[in-house]
Amino acid sequence: MEQKHIAILNIPAHGHINPTLALTANLVNRGYRVTYPVTDEFVKAIEETGAEPLRYHSTLNMDPRQIRELMKNKKDMSQAPMMFMKEVQEVMPQFEEMYENDKPDLIIFDFMAMTGKMLAEKLGIKAVRLCSTYAQNDHFQFSDFSKEDFQIELTSEQEAALKNANLPSFSFEDAFKPAKLNIVFMPRAFQPYGDTFDERFSFVGPSLAKRKFQEKDTELLNDNGRPVMLISLGTAFNAWPEFYQMCIEAFRGTKWQVVMAVGTTIDPDRFEDIPENFSIHQHVPQLEILEKAQLFITHGGMNSTMEGLNAGVPLVAVPQMPEQEITARRVEELGLGTHLEPEETTVASLREAVCQVDGDLEVIKRVKDMQKNIKDAGGAERAADEIEAFLALAAVK
Ligand code: UDP
Repeated sequence: MEQKHIAILNIPAHGHINPTLALTANLVNRGYRVTYPVTDEFVKAIEETGAEPLRYHSTLNMDPRQIRELMKNKKDMSQAPMMFMKEVQEVMPQFEEMYENDKPDLIIFDFMAMTGKMLAEKLGIKAVRLCSTYAQNDHFQFSDFSKEDFQIELTSEQEAALKNANLPSFSFEDAFKPAKLNIVFMPRAFQPYGDTFDERFSFVGPSLAKRKFQEKDTELLNDNGRPVMLISLGTAFNAWPEFYQMCIEAFRGTKWQVVMAVGTTIDPDRFEDIPENFSIHQHVPQLEILEKAQLFITHGGMNSTMEGLNAGVPLVAVPQMPEQEITARRVEELGLGTHLEPEETTVASLREAVCQVDGDLEVIKRVKDMQKNIKDAGGAERAADEIEAFLALAAVK
């Protein structure tokens, strides 16, 4: 039988590519030829899955310091539509050229990779949508949580700029419209109003596998029997040096062995007088550290949240943008940890939040229950099953 070709289209962001890695490897192992366009930074990660990385250029290469500047007013998402439309204009011709004479049998696209959806429509190819964050339906809409936070209607200047640049008008709503099959990388129990989502949504939980490309030569953990705490604000919203300084003061000389990832824009050596119970890095192999951790101070990115819960680790969430805000509140509502608003974050409140969660047997029990929900959701294997069934059905239609 002829080998089927699947193209996976994404945006160049760890939070969107990481959840696809185990799924990609799984599809390759099932005998599919998988092509995956990526920017240089992600080539190694894709090679490790066995898929063919195809290179393209993207406009979405914002420095975390710029992101922090933009998000200073946390509620301002107004730059996003312009950014994504510019990206479509840059990327669409590249993808068309790649696939014109090598038409895939199926396109799998991350919900933020608008080009994936557009290319599938243009070439008349069946498509599966990946949700690396919450799914939306009539019962759950991001904007219901806080209209103000999700003010993403275009201003008249932005509308005019899009027109001038010859770009189609854009609404975030398009990105949240379901496809015939939507793979959601969280268990149904974590999705708000999870029971109200119909059979088009498959809640497979996080899709995780070892990330060899991340392995470090240096010893990250001093295995001294102390409880391990991981501190990380992810890969995009992490340029907040004062936060890391507060963490150093809050947990200096405590029982914790702290591993802190400060992101690529901060030099770990800038911190003076680093306590002996701290190890500070720009980027850490998070899955490995979480396997050993007892507590995770996180920004509440969806991957970090799921990876923490998958490892059975209680969370203290310090959200940096509206979606993480929803997750931080969800963590608290489900009793999986607690949350701290950035403006309330101090040395004292960090200590208090950790104290509140650490060793709380009720929290641990609920985290273990969520961990079970995650294992039962099936991860990459279940996602690949759903995709194969979808492909088989599409073939007979
Ligand atoms: N990550 C990592 N090491 C780090 C920081 C982040 O491996 O030092 C990974 C983390 O495991 C997760 C992803 O990067 O898979 C971050 O995604 P998330 O959705 O949590 O946050 P984002 O970076 O998109 O804000």
